[in-house]
Amino acid sequence: MSLNTLIDIVSKKLSITKFQVVESIYNVINISGDRFNEIRYEDVKRLLDGNESLILDEMINLKVIKKMILCECLLTEDSEFIGEEDKICPKCRNSIRDNNHEVYDYYLLDRNEKEQIIFLLNSLAEEEYITEFTRGNFKDLIRKKDFIIPFIGSGVSIPLNLPSWGEMIRNLKSELEAPLIPAFTRYVDTGNYLKALSFLEENTLLDKELIKEKIVDEFEKIPKDVLYQNDNNYVDLYNMNSKFYITTNYDNLLTDYISKKEPSVSVAYTWKDIINMQNFLRENKKRVLHIHGHIQKTDTMIVTEEDYKNLYQNTSIKDNLLGIMGTNNLLFIGFSFNDEFFKMLYKDITSSIKGNHYILLPNVTMDKAKKIMEDAPGLRVIGLNIKTDCEGKYIQQDFVQAVRTVLKQLII
Ligand SMILES: [Zn+2]
Repeated sequence: MSLNTLIDIVSKKLSITKFQVVESIYNVINISGDRFNEIRYEDVKRLLDGNESLILDEMINLKVIKKMILCECLLTEDSEFIGEEDKICPKCRNSIRDNNHEVYDYYLLDRNEKEQIIFLLNSLAEEEYITEFTRGNFKDLIRKKDFIIPFIGSGVSIPLNLPSWGEMIRNLKSELEAPLIPAFTRYVDTGNYLKALSFLEENTLLDKELIKEKIVDEFEKIPKDVLYQNDNNYVDLYNMNSKFYITTNYDNLLTDYISKKEPSVSVAYTWKDIINMQNFLRENKKRVLHIHGHIQKTDTMIVTEEDYKNLYQNTSIKDNLLGIMGTNNLLFIGFSFNDEFFKMLYKDITSSIKGNHYILLPNVTMDKAKKIMEDAPGLRVIGLNIKTDCEGKYIQQDFVQAVRTVLKQLII
């Protein structure tokens, strides 16, 4: 009861939503811990911002965090927390003020309150971030969490302030003669990335190797510590504990993150390594499968339509994918359904892997979701409510939080 009162009071006092209040409460208890003394209280206050500091004091006022006394009984050599008004030692039944007792003031958050806070945070996050008419799909996704394999697109890297794949390709337009630029830009705008790259190959002095070099150059500009500079979802993908990950990205950000956490386990895989599929499936090493290659093995990189067609028509990748999927379901993150690239990829991948798959899409409308279901059989949309800035661009921090809300429910 007191937790709800706390949320109401703080929400009114600070004019913020209940979700924001609970988020702040959660931050506060992460910093303070479940029990702390007066000295630590002062330290904690210094670490909190103004709103959080007010929240901590309200939590104490409303006894969500209770003031307790730690009573150390020298007679029984035992100790116990007692209420701040209690005067009798529960161990020996003597007064706690006599010479056989040492008492310390403490603040305690009990386990039930903590669980309640986490429960509220998850349910309010769901209300905040998951589009209402897609919550059934979200529940369905959670039920299947043991079988979900994340399938990661370049959108996951945008909160790191990295250019998207589309932007990287767009930057190559200077290689073209002016009259050809509008056609090229149109391909990029509609997400026809491979077509755009084929167009470059045909109409510029760039050959396939040079195009790959240009792409690698772009990725090499990424600072090594980029994952630690900005909040992002790679940490959540790691926390999911998925058996493995699939990506169309060329960069090694996820592999780098996983290898840093678990130095012995993770090596990036490419479609050329798939020969050892049985091992891949059994080892459970959180490997990242770059189905379109990656920048350290440029010979594996799929950069033109021709490469793509070759991969899906002339190699055994579809059979292999079928093998590794088995009964798993894919969760597409960081793709846009406006991209011709994604539509083509989904069709090629799921033509052999039946069943339901899921896609996270920002600010999707009902009409759009219905259209996607028609165009991509078996694909279930989970809409994310993402705030936009005055130019209509997604607020990246909000995107990270929304994806996090989903991934937190999939931890196995
Ligand atoms: Zn005692």
